[in-house]
Amino acid sequence: MKFEKYSISSSLKRSLEEKGFKKPTDIQFKSIPPILRGEDVLAIAQTGTGKTAAFAIPVMERLLNKPNKGNRKKSIRTLVMAPTRELAQQITEVFETIGKYTKLDILCIYGGVEQVKQIEKLESGVDILIATPGRMFDLQHQGYVDLSRTEILVLDEADHMLEKGFIKDIKDVIRFLPKHRQTLFFSATIDEQIKKLAYSLVKNAIRIQI
Ligand code: AMP
Repeated sequence: MKFEKYSISSSLKRSLEEKGFKKPTDIQFKSIPPILRGEDVLAIAQTGTGKTAAFAIPVMERLLNKPNKGNRKKSIRTLVMAPTRELAQQITEVFETIGKYTKLDILCIYGGVEQVKQIEKLESGVDILIATPGRMFDLQHQGYVDLSRTEILVLDEADHMLEKGFIKDIKDVIRFLPKHRQTLFFSATIDEQIKKLAYSLVKNAIRIQI
């Protein structure tokens, strides 16, 4: 199965072709169809498997398929949380490259830098927000992030987020999201604690292991 055969927008196909991505990797082959159908996914996949594009491609397709009626730019449509600044930036790069022919606005926020620029960008309107949990918590509590109409939540490297003690920040932020949403949970490893977190967030998830 090649990307050209997928029922995804030509704007995404064009950038995938430019990037030289012809065929989906294993995790992409398994994740893209259920995510496109709107299902929750619980995926166990390591870095290097193509896991970022496995959620970035179908997430953007879902946003493109359902234009943001009457709410243009007021609320974040997809929130991605990742444990480190480096990972958040890598994820952002993937969204930006694959989404370059779309009009989706993408923003990355993380701690350790001043908030002003991030706030300005948030206020100018963002479709896809990629964030580390601490900074996300701060900006959310200051009222700069509207998650009231968020359609998709992605947690990437959930195991590392637990290890780093981000669980409280994550749970606090998730309280502000609509209950009716799509949740994609990615982790490199799985144990009882991660399972507990995962199953508190996803509903009837498709489980994917590669
Ligand atoms: P990730 O696991 O998301 O960090 O991706 C690992 C590497 O695989 C990155 O350098 C991607 O650019 C590359 N990659 C992801 N998907 C594909 C694909 N379908 N074809 C070729 N390379 C890919």
